[in-house]
Amino acid sequence: MNHHLKEYLSKHHYPRFEIKAILFDMDGVLYDSMPAHADSWQKTMEEFGYSTTKPAEFYLHEGRLGQATINIITEREFGREATAKEMEEIYARKTELFREYNNGKTITGAAQVLELVKEKGLTPVLVTGSGQPSLLGRLDAHFPGTFTPQTMVTAFDVVNGKPDPEPFLQGLKKGGDLQPNQAIVIENAPLGIEAAVGAGIFTIAVNTGPLPDSLLREAGASVVFDSMTQLLEELPGLLHQAETTGI
Ligand code: MG
Repeated sequence: MNHHLKEYLSKHHYPRFEIKAILFDMDGVLYDSMPAHADSWQKTMEEFGYSTTKPAEFYLHEGRLGQATINIITEREFGREATAKEMEEIYARKTELFREYNNGKTITGAAQVLELVKEKGLTPVLVTGSGQPSLLGRLDAHFPGTFTPQTMVTAFDVVNGKPDPEPFLQGLKKGGDLQPNQAIVIENAPLGIEAAVGAGIFTIAVNTGPLPDSLLREAGASVVFDSMTQLLEELPGLLHQAETTGI
């Protein structure tokens, strides 16, 4: 672990970490919602006459704003950009089906990780590309007293979604005007990792889905864990090392 931390510091020319906040992605990190996302996307695209998508594809789009995903698939399928009306209608239907398919189940260990972060006096910040009211509105019910609008970045806050670094740069701001070496990102998806690494933040991947670890490493994750439970076990040691590691 130590050498990953050192590698980050030397690459980014920081003498040390000063961790104040942990930036959490939502889908696939806090909520076990990715299967419902993939299935609702697939059903929606079929209904709108698209024939080239498969549910597995949507794990690769994970983190993108819905409009961007629709546009990429429309260009591939029809050789043109999606119209504003298509984007609106498709995303509305996808949102409706997602609400129907998703059971609101949280990822095992996620609540405990958030509690640990708070116990350590660090600020948990949510950084998601999601614009799904059915999950965003229930965060406080599932993870009480953890996130407030002041510590959340959602689809409604950004112009450029993941893989652009903007959401995580805003996350640093909401964490208390932080520098990149004052935070750690927890992500599960390649595009989210790319965004976090682009924002210059030490990024831990938690692989809760079907993609191979290699894709998460290639996207730039410094460390890949296989579950939030493993993160829960490793995080105290990692934070201790981050406090004591310097170059
Ligand atoms: Mg995710």
